Amino acid sequence: MLDSSRLLPYTRTMPTEPRTLQEAILYFADPENCMHYLLAHRPEWKNGVVCPTCDSKDVGFIASRRMWQCKNRHPKSQFSVKVGTIMEDSAIGLDKWLVAIWMQTNSRNGVSSWEIHRSLGITQKCAWHMLHRIRLAMQDDLSGGTLSGEVEVDESYIGGKARNMHRSRKRRMQITCGRKVGKTVVLGILERETESKPKRIRATVVPDAQKLTIAPEVYAHVEPGSQIHSDEHGNNWRMDDRYIHNIVNHLETYVQGNVHTNTLENFWSLLKRGLAGTYVAVEPFHLFRYVDERAFRYNNRRHADGEVMTDSERFSVAVEQIVGRRLTYAELTGKVGEKREGTETVN
Ligand SMILES: [Zn+2]
Repeated sequence: MLDSSRLLPYTRTMPTEPRTLQEAILYFADPENCMHYLLAHRPEWKNGVVCPTCDSKDVGFIASRRMWQCKNRHPKSQFSVKVGTIMEDSAIGLDKWLVAIWMQTNSRNGVSSWEIHRSLGITQKCAWHMLHRIRLAMQDDLSGGTLSGEVEVDESYIGGKARNMHRSRKRRMQITCGRKVGKTVVLGILERETESKPKRIRATVVPDAQKLTIAPEVYAHVEPGSQIHSDEHGNNWRMDDRYIHNIVNHLETYVQGNVHTNTLENFWSLLKRGLAGTYVAVEPFHLFRYVDERAFRYNNRRHADGEVMTDSERFSVAVEQIVGRRLTYAELTGKVGEKREGTETVN
């Protein structure tokens, strides 16, 4: 027998934001929750939805279509919550987008387009485009300012088995990369952690490891007067006028007191492990996107005060960066101007 006095009246309370992948799948299965979440994490709409075309605040919501209608007369007067984000023009539902963002930001080594294809039931090609757009959202917005204190600078050579490469590409790589045939150069600049802040990295694909390439990157990212630690290759781009430049000679030793690049070495091994394990083949052309992805996860392990970041918080950082970033399939494949294939209509 049911004790009727224990039955509570039915009320629909807004569920709290998800904390795990399982909660995220359940939460974002409800379109209302997707809208609620995206509106709450879209800073420029904090004081109300604004028409992206004419900046008018005089917009009405069409509940049946989950779209807004601008009261001014102009093209594109109807728009959805996807407008102006990496999801614009995508026919894939918010439920799948948000779960894909969750998986991509929180899995240790990233997820492959095949995994997204199988998990979410979209085509692999579609998943590939989707993941690259999520990587764009994961790109550092550099709002943290320049790096300072003790900074490790080192380059790493990634990928490229030359024998698997087409002859014309091999020739192109030889011209651009010099002595390391078929390898892509990634420059890493890492600020060591201190008691008051966690370590953070800026990593970027560069055409070569010459001084003319490396010096402007270091200038742009490192505060003058900082201590720079590099290996003997740093002799090629010394900038003693701006920095205290310490060099450890790897042929002799890997560490001289605090002069080493071990923290950065650790990042390189994470990057290479992810590339080898999750992504079978990465074109040099796309490598920077995988570097951005890895740097995002590295930089979002802890809050500025050292507190460990939760999956939910890391996810929200990425969602807040989806606005104002676009990457079309044509841009991604370098086929700008060609007719777009109908991959976005899947589901
Ligand atoms: Zn308008």
